[in-house]
Amino acid sequence: MVNLQTPIAQNGRAMKMYASRLEKLGIYTIGDFLQHIPSRYEDFSLITPIVKVQPGEIVTVRATVKQMKNLFTKTGKRIQEAIVFDETGELKVIWFNQQFLTRVIHEGDKISLSGRVEFNNRHIVLAAPEYEITTTGPTIHTGRFVPIYPETSGVSSKWLRRQVYKIIYENPEIFIEYLPYSILEKYELMGYKEAIEQIHFPKSLDLANKAKNRLSFDEIFLLQLTAAQKKQAWKKMTKGFSFDIKKYEKEIQIFWEHLPFSLTGAQRRVIREMFEDLGKSHPMNRLVQGDVGSGKTVVAAAGMYLAFLSGFQSILMAPTQILAEQHFRTVQKLLSPFNVKIELITGNIKPKTNDFNILIGTHAILSEKITFKNLGFVAIDEQQRFGVEQRALLREKGNNPHVLTMTATPIPRTVALTLYGDLDLSVIDEMPVGRKLVKTWLVPNVKRTSGYTWIEEKIKEGDQAFIVCPFIEESENNTTIKAATKEFERLQTDVFPHLKLALLHGKMKAKDKDETLQAFKNKQFDILVATPVVEVGIDIENATIIVVEAAERFGLAQLHQLRGRVGRGDKQSYCLLYTESSNAMTQARLKSLEKIYNGAELAELDLKMRGAGDIYGTQQSGWRMLKIASFSDVVLIEKAKREAEKIANELNKYPLLEQKLQEIAGKEVSPD
Ligand code: ADP
Ligand code: MG
Repeated sequence: MVNLQTPIAQNGRAMKMYASRLEKLGIYTIGDFLQHIPSRYEDFSLITPIVKVQPGEIVTVRATVKQMKNLFTKTGKRIQEAIVFDETGELKVIWFNQQFLTRVIHEGDKISLSGRVEFNNRHIVLAAPEYEITTTGPTIHTGRFVPIYPETSGVSSKWLRRQVYKIIYENPEIFIEYLPYSILEKYELMGYKEAIEQIHFPKSLDLANKAKNRLSFDEIFLLQLTAAQKKQAWKKMTKGFSFDIKKYEKEIQIFWEHLPFSLTGAQRRVIREMFEDLGKSHPMNRLVQGDVGSGKTVVAAAGMYLAFLSGFQSILMAPTQILAEQHFRTVQKLLSPFNVKIELITGNIKPKTNDFNILIGTHAILSEKITFKNLGFVAIDEQQRFGVEQRALLREKGNNPHVLTMTATPIPRTVALTLYGDLDLSVIDEMPVGRKLVKTWLVPNVKRTSGYTWIEEKIKEGDQAFIVCPFIEESENNTTIKAATKEFERLQTDVFPHLKLALLHGKMKAKDKDETLQAFKNKQFDILVATPVVEVGIDIENATIIVVEAAERFGLAQLHQLRGRVGRGDKQSYCLLYTESSNAMTQARLKSLEKIYNGAELAELDLKMRGAGDIYGTQQSGWRMLKIASFSDVVLIEKAKREAEKIANELNKYPLLEQKLQEIAGKEVSPD
């Protein structure tokens, strides 16, 4: 007896041989086969009498083999030729270089053939069709909508088709409907077994779509339900510190009045959401997303101030030394008027005393030497840079402190809802007033030189510029560095011989990177040439120009993040996008940056135009995790989330669903 969790290696000797190949497709269990859904279908459903067969058409014929032989062409190539017939006539069929076919197809066999009809030497032939001998049972590869799967070396669609067919029709007991009837009915979802059948072997494309819809719902719903369950368990089981906001209302009011600016509506909303969490007795676990410059630091500062008032220590962790130092200065300005003791820790700098209220630093904070008396609040800047273990370590430094993570990476709402289902999400979707937008131009390639001239003029007026090298590969390797170094040399020698340029790439030591950035900030260079993976989160107010080479290789959201490196000061800033592509779609896509200045909106556009799988940086953030559903299906994702949150409270009413969740949870710790 098999079930969906049965590893394929246990399912017969032949399968065992395939196990390592199938791993490449993410197939480990019987259930994974069923989740490996077709990328498209070949429409072989039209069965044509031989007399009606016409060149150019894709047809299926049902016939008997009259003759089958191996032949050599005049050029010495091997072909296999069959003559087949039905009640209406005869048809020639050829294959190329598949000698084994004469052992498989014999005279007198009943055969089903699907493929394209061609003219060959004034004869009608069926060229290289799919074939199957049809003495018994229904056809799988011909005479129907035939699934075409994502393949890998040694694993063809034909092979996969056979396995999937066997699994579906030889193991009816594995298909247990686990969705509550009320949900099936409310959203008119197809039953589980039918959905699996129709996604692999659809009777019509409409049914295939309905099947996909049902299975997409399942995928999102189960993810959401798992997350909702985790969240609820977390809330029930973990006890944290509740900060008394009411008690410190006056102090907080004074803090607002001392700010050098008035908060935006979005900042106020996000701080309110955070304060609400901080008043509860279970620890906060909140993600704040906001474009570069939207003002996330003051949100963290407000949280740390409330922690201080409530008698707790806080930490603020940044990914680089320069950012840590910048945060240190900012938070000092905001909080030292209120007698908050703030210390800095980085690779080089040690805190002067352990008697601090707030510790700001790089991951040096995680070193064992630092002990906390009563850590109550943790803020992490640029969360994707810190791994899960590091976050767990941070948590252990205190007794379940509240955790606020901040990111500038634009995430479409659907992705956030799905991937960060166990976090609470706040979005700062508004910029401080008076902030000048970074003027963005898509520069036609013919104007490349005049673009350089313009940059040189601006630099002579005292500005500085970033030039971002073409994006080559997701992780920075020797090829990328070599290309960047070449571009740097070209720019220095041929384009800007009279200016001072520096190069920054991801393989440089952290210390060297920090020094180069600091030197740039101190205006020792005019232009900083950088690889795309180098994130510059720091304020370099004098840098007003950013040039992005081969802009077409980036997602819009990434380009938006890149242009956020400028526009930090009062001066008007500019982003110049260079592309060699004259493709109309590409041009239109890039031109949208001239008009749209909202990161989330651009991330949504990316999703629509290129799909999550193509977005730069998705691999590390795990956007590829969806097998069936698509992040662009907003309606479905919202529906599934709503239902998951409703049902998470009363899961014990649905034992089959509960069991399904356990199976999924069990899988998370398995092979891969
Ligand atoms: P982020 O971390 O979101 O990129 P920061 O917190 O570093 O942004 O803020 C960017 C700059 O904007 C800082 O100089 C900060 O003092 C300023 N700032 C933040 N909020 C406001 C506001 N509401 N009005 C004006 N300036 C603001
Ligand atoms: Mg920041």
